[in-house]
Amino acid sequence: MKERADQYFGSMVFGYEKMKEYLSKDTYRQLKETIRVGKELNLDIANQVAHAMKEWALSEGATHYCHWFQPMTSITAEKHESFLVPSSEGAALMEFSGKELIKGEPDASSFPSGGLRATFEARGYTAWDPSSYAFIKENTLCIPTAFCSYSGEVLDKKTPLLRSMEVISREAIRILKLFGRSDVKRVVTTVGPEQEYFLVDKDLYLQRKDLIHTGRTLVGARPPKGQELEDHYFGNLKSRVSAFMQELDEELWKLGIFAKTEHNEVAPSQHELAPVFTTSNLAVDQNQLTMEIMKKIANKHGLVCLLHEKPFAGVNGSGKHNNWSISTDTGLNLLEPGDNPKDNAQFLLFLVAVIAAVDEYQDLLRVSVASAGNDHRLGANEAPPAIVSMFLGEELTEILDSLVDGTDYPNKERSSMLLGVNLLPPFPRDTTDRNRTSPFAFTGNKFEFRMLGSSFSVSGPNFVLNTIIAEQLSRFANQLEQAKDFASELSALVKETYSKHRRIVFNGNNYAPEWIDEAKRRGLLNLVSTPEALPTFIHAKNIALFEKFGVLSSSEMHSRYEIVLENYCKTLNIEALTLVDMMRKQVLPALSAFSGALARSFLDKKAAVSSLSLSYEAGLIAELSNLADGLDKEVALLEQQLLEARMVEDISSESYFYHDTVLAQMAQVRSLCDTAELLTDQQYWPIPTYESLLYSV
Ligand code: ADP
Ligand code: MG
Repeated sequence: MKERADQYFGSMVFGYEKMKEYLSKDTYRQLKETIRVGKELNLDIANQVAHAMKEWALSEGATHYCHWFQPMTSITAEKHESFLVPSSEGAALMEFSGKELIKGEPDASSFPSGGLRATFEARGYTAWDPSSYAFIKENTLCIPTAFCSYSGEVLDKKTPLLRSMEVISREAIRILKLFGRSDVKRVVTTVGPEQEYFLVDKDLYLQRKDLIHTGRTLVGARPPKGQELEDHYFGNLKSRVSAFMQELDEELWKLGIFAKTEHNEVAPSQHELAPVFTTSNLAVDQNQLTMEIMKKIANKHGLVCLLHEKPFAGVNGSGKHNNWSISTDTGLNLLEPGDNPKDNAQFLLFLVAVIAAVDEYQDLLRVSVASAGNDHRLGANEAPPAIVSMFLGEELTEILDSLVDGTDYPNKERSSMLLGVNLLPPFPRDTTDRNRTSPFAFTGNKFEFRMLGSSFSVSGPNFVLNTIIAEQLSRFANQLEQAKDFASELSALVKETYSKHRRIVFNGNNYAPEWIDEAKRRGLLNLVSTPEALPTFIHAKNIALFEKFGVLSSSEMHSRYEIVLENYCKTLNIEALTLVDMMRKQVLPALSAFSGALARSFLDKKAAVSSLSLSYEAGLIAELSNLADGLDKEVALLEQQLLEARMVEDISSESYFYHDTVLAQMAQVRSLCDTAELLTDQQYWPIPTYESLLYSV
């Protein structure tokens, strides 16, 4: 019989339970304190923790350990070391010291650094993040670590996130003090990322170079049946898929990841996994692990898990919904409307801090979700759009509007409850009806940032969110700490902030074409592509922000800017090369073979019965030959452009060249190829079709 899930949940994680079991009382207490307040760990404690971790890992059959880190690629990295060392008598010992736990030295030269290492040393080091749990994966004890260059430049995705969490905690505590909550010692941000993905049959996948090399289909005519019937959503899980999901859940549970709901998405073969939320840094680690394990488990079931944002044209893409909130170590969710005026005033202050942050730093939020893959969703004919706006729901918007405009809040009964700090009447939570089109929606006691791509690390969007909100809280605190009359200053601050930033609130349909014009009138940004969005990252105001809080330095920001744009260009380059290869080696030869067969059959028939018209064969031969000639020409042009791209000197111009020229030409090639596919005998078509990919599992 199978073990109960609650019994093996977290069994592969060195969490509080294991710590308690394997550490002395005193060491456990000190480690816990280190984790709680983010203190530094001394070597003596580290040695004891390392020993305990090793004993636990060995008892679970582990043979190796690794520093697990998150470089500026989209995946995690690890360098395995064996626990084994020879003893002086030549026998084997299993060792793991505090030093090895705290610090590692992977060769940093093969990870992207965006020019940072041109000026600095090639070496880098990894440092243990005690606030994230160590875990065992494939017989290896994995220690979550931050990754820096030797001179201290941040080269990873964990460090800025941890820093941003410190910063927002500090600023939020200042605000809470003013509300008399001096008991709060720490404020944490929480994240629950909902992960979308596709599953396709592995045998078919292996026949498509585009899926193998780029993660998406570069060609493929639309199947007769797409997602128009919407019959996939919450439909029954097919047995192969449910076997996959079951095993996935089990593996995630062992790693202490609360995988909660799994269901089909709108598109055929598309699914979603939602975990229970946790602190931001754990959520980031766990989401990285989730993506990795999804791919591995899929493979075991003869499936491939596609995490690309747009694997199929004409079918919904995949995103990641970043549910975000902020709460205290005393258990208070700061985005939860209170049930008395004072709590509501506090809620409103945090709410307008988020509103102001999102409005003022639309560009940073947009940049945090920019990539070649996600460009196919944002700003393309898909949701959410590239314009950042917020949904608050009707009732909350009305309350804020009436505050600013001095009008009566429409609900008289509740208005009569305006008391004390004179701000917000209690209101029921469930009035925040769902607006599925908003990129940034208030959903009762949290915000849901929906622009993330499915393959993203959620670190970037979250360190941006934390920092931009910390900035508003810091300004508020500066002002309120000086206030003579706290209540009236608070009231004025909420009104002033909302009135300055209310343009970012949009409760309507974000997919409607009218919204684009309306957003323009409101002065909102519409950065439709990665080349357009990225340069805003290094605008002076944004550099000033990150430097002010010590989250990223100016040189670290420039390096990140370069890494992302370089990655964009490389991605499109690989896509274009793959497309050329598929056309030259597969599609053009197939068209030639099929039209050749038609021609032979035409001649045979003509020879047999000379009076036949044979317009089907004749017409198709002509059409296919014309298409092949056209395709050949367009492919040659694309090849030419790829040579030109190499000549472009600066990275921004290069990214525009790829976007405006190469990507447009790829669409040209695709259109001819897809037309040809529809005319070609399926026995001659060399790559699995959309129909087979989307309906095979
Ligand atoms: P849906 O958006 O699909 O309707 P829910 O609203 O139930 O689903 O929750 C979506 C996600 O939001 C889940 O991953 C959940 O854990 C997460 N979530 C709930 N509360 C919070 C919170 N306070 N902070 C961060 N994430 C949260
Ligand atoms: Mg959601």
